[in-house]
Parts: sequence; structure tokens; C-alpha cells
Amino acid sequence: MHPTSRSRAAVARRAHNPKVGGSIPPFATTKARKSLFLFYRFVVSFKGPNNMKAGFVSIFGRPNAGKSTLLNALMGEKLAIVSPKVQTTRHRIKGILTDDQYQIILSDTPGIIEPKYKLHEKMMMAVKSALEDADIALFLVDINEDWIELDDLFSSFKLSAPAFVVLNKIDTVSKVKVEEALAFFGSKSYCKHIFKISALNNQNTKILLDAIVEELPEGEPFFEGDEISDLPTKFFVAEMIREKIYNIYKEEIPYHTTVLVNEFKEKSTLVKITADIVVQRETQKGILLGEGGKMIRLLGTEARKEIEAFLGQKVFLELHVKVRPKWRDNDFMLREYGYR
Ligand code: GDP
Ligand code: MG
Repeated sequence: MHPTSRSRAAVARRAHNPKVGGSIPPFATTKARKSLFLFYRFVVSFKGPNNMKAGFVSIFGRPNAGKSTLLNALMGEKLAIVSPKVQTTRHRIKGILTDDQYQIILSDTPGIIEPKYKLHEKMMMAVKSALEDADIALFLVDINEDWIELDDLFSSFKLSAPAFVVLNKIDTVSKVKVEEALAFFGSKSYCKHIFKISALNNQNTKILLDAIVEELPEGEPFFEGDEISDLPTKFFVAEMIREKIYNIYKEEIPYHTTVLVNEFKEKSTLVKITADIVVQRETQKGILLGEGGKMIRLLGTEARKEIEAFLGQKVFLELHVKVRPKWRDNDFMLREYGYR
């Protein structure tokens, strides 16, 4: 199923899907528990063997809160994972975590920022639509951030989905501060559950994962195994190049840059990939290339290694830097580069 049809699917799924089971009341006697259990099994057996849970989980938070780190931690939590793939650049599906009980479709969102350019507006629209689409919203908090400011932001969202507040980077603060943050966010009306984690150290991420699965609606997986592999690898490759640009170049350059993969050809011994790195000005092109092309060679090598590891194949990567003035303010170009 294509992800864009999911909202309708979600509505249909919810309409057809009366919840079965639930927890057994604590007052039940052992005998009563057993009959309840057998009744539960009976109901479940009528639903067939595929009593799956499936849904969309979006991670929100300010830049640097640890969204990508958390995504990786969650994706790495189980061996039954499918390789993370990216559906479009800069936003939406980042990973699909499937096992025989559930499918979690994880979206990372662009960090929440004030829109300064059309690109930012588009990114914020992506944040908004991810909010509307999500079955569960994870509000990720770097515990060192300004809590009051974040509370204002989270309160401003019009959520239909339950939100989990996830306090991250607890390894960097005292236990007292963690307790204070739990009390602060735990009392807010948008907060269905609260967690304290260190995404970097994989601390408590399994607890979070279990709670996500618990909260997911029942339903069939949205993506079958081979459908996942059909998600455009080109976008994933572009994203990897973009991430390397973030690593290699100084602060402002990555924000003036987008990546477009033009060619993706599987040859007998390797994959040939050609990509454009699009910038706004000649000076930015100069920075990207570096002295005598030193920087772009470094970028090419780093990106190629990462893509090779992902594809499990040798890659020949060719990068071209192109100047397209004001691409960030041009609707047509934004569409061409994947911001819809
Ligand atoms: P994003 O911008 O929200 O995607 O944030 P990243 O996942 O890129 O993380 C931003 C920085 O925070 C990186 O340097 C991470 O290594 C660091 N980070 C993320 N999670 C943790 C954590 O639990 N503890 C600590 N100490 N650092 C973290
Ligand atoms: Mg990130």
C-alpha cells in the first residue's frame, strides 16, 4: 500500500477493528482469569492468525534533540528489522520496523524551527502533516533544553494521536533533574506516557519500543517485504549524501544545499550513481569543491563508503555541483527536488 493512502486506510481499519482483549481486571479469580483468557483466545481465533498491530509513529523535536539517534536505536533494537529506507528527502518515512506481531513505520521529522524561507515552510508543513498522520507522536526532549518553551510548542499542536513525551540525554544530567522533568512534562494534558531515555546509550529504548507496540492500533501491515525494497533507493542515496554534507561542511552550507540523484544504474560488478549537489551561489559551489576539489573528493569517498555498506555492492559515485539561484524560494524547483 502506498503511504499516501494511509489516512483513509487508517480510518477504515479503525472502523472495522473493534479492540479485543485488553488487560484482565485485577479482582478476577484464577478460574475467572482462565475463562477470560480462553474467551480471549476464542475471539482472537475468529480474527485469524494475523492479529497484527501496525501504525505510523512520528518523532518530533528541536534540532539536536536526538531524533536520528533515537531512530537508529529503535531500528537496531530488533534483529527482524528491515533496512531503513527514506521515502522522500528531508522528511517522512525513515524506517520500517516489522516483526510477526507488528509493523511500526517511523518518521523522523525536520527539526522544529521558525520558517524563514519557502523551504522551511515546506519542512514545517511536513511536520504538520506528519502530526496529522501519526498514530503515535513522540515528543523528544533534550533534557537540557528550555522545558517551558518546549511545553508551549507541544501545547500548540492540535493532536488527535496520543503523544509520548520522551526525555532524552538523561546520561548528561543528575537523577534529580530527571525527576523534575518527569514531574513537569508528566502532568501536561498532551502527555499520555512519559519516558526517560538515553538514545545514545540505548538506555530504556526497549521499554519505549514495547509501549509503542502496546499503543499501536490493530491492523494489517502497510508494507509487505518486497514493497519495502521498492521504495526508491535513489532517495535514500540522496539522503546519505546529504548527511555527509552535514558532517563535512560548516554550519550554513548544508542548509543551502540539496541533492538530486540523476542516475542509478546497476551494472554487472557495481552500481553507477550520478548525483547533483545543488547550491544557490557560486561562492557556495567553491566551498563545496574546496581547494583543488579536495572537499568534494572527501565527500565523495565518505558518501560512497556509506552507500556501499547499505547496498552491499561496489559503487561508482559521481558528484556534480550545480548553481541554481534561489532554489529554496522556487516552488517549481522545490517540487523537482522532492519537497511536495
Ligand atoms: P536530531 O537533530 O534531533 O536528529 O539529533 P541527533 O540524533 O543528530 O543528535 C544530536 C546530538 O546529540 C548528537 O551529537 C548525538 O550524538 C547526541 N545525542 C543524541 N542522543 C543522546 C543521548 O542520549 N545522550 C547524549 N549524551 N547525547 C546524545
Ligand atoms: Mg536528525
